[in-house]
Amino acid sequence: MLGSMMNYQLTLTSIMKHGKQINPHKEVVSITSDHDEHRCTLSDIFERSAQVANLLKAHDIKKGDRVATLAWNDFRHMELYYGIGCSGAVCHTINPRLHPDQVNFIVNDASDQVIFLDVMFIDLVKAVEAELTSVKKFIVLTSDASVVEGFGEKWSTYEADIGSHSTEFNWPELDENDPCQLCYTSGTTGNPKGVQYSHRALVLHTMAAIAPDAFSIGKNDCVLPVVPMFHVNAWGIPYMAAMTGCKLVLAGSKVADPKVLSRLIQDEGVTLAAGVPTVWNLLAQHLQENKISLTCLKKLVVGGTAMPPHLFRYFQDEQDMAIIHAWGMTEMSPLGTINHIQAKEMLEWDDEAQFEQKLKQGVPVYGIELKLINDDGQDVAWDGKASGNLLVRGPWVVDQYFNRPDVKNENGWFDTGDISIIDEHGYMKITDRSKDVIKSGGEWISSVDIENAMMSHPEVSLAAVIGVVHPKWDERPLLIIERHGDKELSYAEVTSHLTGKIAKWWMPDAIEYVDQIPMTATGKMHKLKLRETFTDYSF
Ligand code: ADP
Repeated sequence: MLGSMMNYQLTLTSIMKHGKQINPHKEVVSITSDHDEHRCTLSDIFERSAQVANLLKAHDIKKGDRVATLAWNDFRHMELYYGIGCSGAVCHTINPRLHPDQVNFIVNDASDQVIFLDVMFIDLVKAVEAELTSVKKFIVLTSDASVVEGFGEKWSTYEADIGSHSTEFNWPELDENDPCQLCYTSGTTGNPKGVQYSHRALVLHTMAAIAPDAFSIGKNDCVLPVVPMFHVNAWGIPYMAAMTGCKLVLAGSKVADPKVLSRLIQDEGVTLAAGVPTVWNLLAQHLQENKISLTCLKKLVVGGTAMPPHLFRYFQDEQDMAIIHAWGMTEMSPLGTINHIQAKEMLEWDDEAQFEQKLKQGVPVYGIELKLINDDGQDVAWDGKASGNLLVRGPWVVDQYFNRPDVKNENGWFDTGDISIIDEHGYMKITDRSKDVIKSGGEWISSVDIENAMMSHPEVSLAAVIGVVHPKWDERPLLIIERHGDKELSYAEVTSHLTGKIAKWWMPDAIEYVDQIPMTATGKMHKLKLRETFTDYSF
């Protein structure tokens, strides 16, 4: 016999309906190519989502069809999130920082039927247009109809297109396991792989992510997702807004402009901002140079890569913010673990011990299970010392990549490709990506630990460590530092800084300076490129 509760479907439509009914007047502030400052409400957004749904119907878009976006964070992109997903189609968010060949690959892999794009991505799409054979419409997200003049009948503009449609739509009853969003991994090795999220996964993820010991978002918050809406659904924040009724601030293409971010935070009263450390680094420099204190901003969510310790200290100690350090993946919708120092006994630890704990990636949120195994598949103890391959499972973890039946999870667990340590309190610490790990004399060296120790030096803002072939030890660490002005630290200065912070045998064998450490399309250090650059390096 089954339990006797209602079989209520967990869909994005249920989030939209809640937002419409309970939080209709909540504000969404955006910067777009045609508005320096655009203000609307959730209710306006959902009315226009209905117009989007009517437009898609007019173009014969059916349930499950993919409809792509190439767009920054703004109100129109949010209308598309709901309009596409709640009408039964799948909103495929494309990362515009990808190489045009990769954009070409994923549009074809997904068989996108329509692409909605920002004005600044017209050239990117035009460069590969002839090869995008599945696409029947290119709709530019603007009110300026002149941008598509002479482009032919496949091209049109958003405001003109949706303007003729009704703000009412008969939203279909969807199954919670139906797909609604699609996002590809950045594909630093091989072609990108698509993760197709179900309604159920995203609803449960949203509920878990807003909780007090996770992002802790409520009605009175004002949230700035600096993380782009083309990257894992902006970590789910557009759904959190409708579910909680928080105010949203969307910075358009200015998400990496610290001056704009600082102004928006102060003018709009942002209480929580979420993004990768690269952006927080730029913001910190701007705040320091201009002696700005962001008093309204209480919570800084950081994820994507580890937060460098000096940056953590700056925002915590000098800006008085709570740093919410999160770890996740495209394959995990993305939230996996989150770090708040929660337990009372930890708050009594000395400052150094607390700080070390805070730098970890944290404990799993309810819904995510972690497992550590060694190369033989045996469980690794959660003792804060032993490292292993990190596996995960849960209702918002990918079961199967889009169009890739050849890649399978084993025994119901997803292999994250991360190497980590878990302590007796359940706090997980990433020590490396499995493909970046350095094996010296049969033992693993954590490149992440060395990088963090190096980036705590005031003269170093970005440092990467890679393994280089060594005749005796198989591999030894090479430290690569991004040049900052003229000063270059000597090897002796570097080793003296690292002494005591890392194991003696982890000490990098050499240092190289570069003008720029290459970054991936999702803002992580591109170790593969670095390894290619230093492939013939000898110590
Ligand atoms: P990509 O498309 O670049 O693969 P993902 O966001 O899916 O983007 O990347 C996930 C990976 O990013 C994780 O497996 C992990 O290695 C790294 N990562 C994410 N968050 C953190 C964090 N807080 N600290 C360290 N590494 C992180």
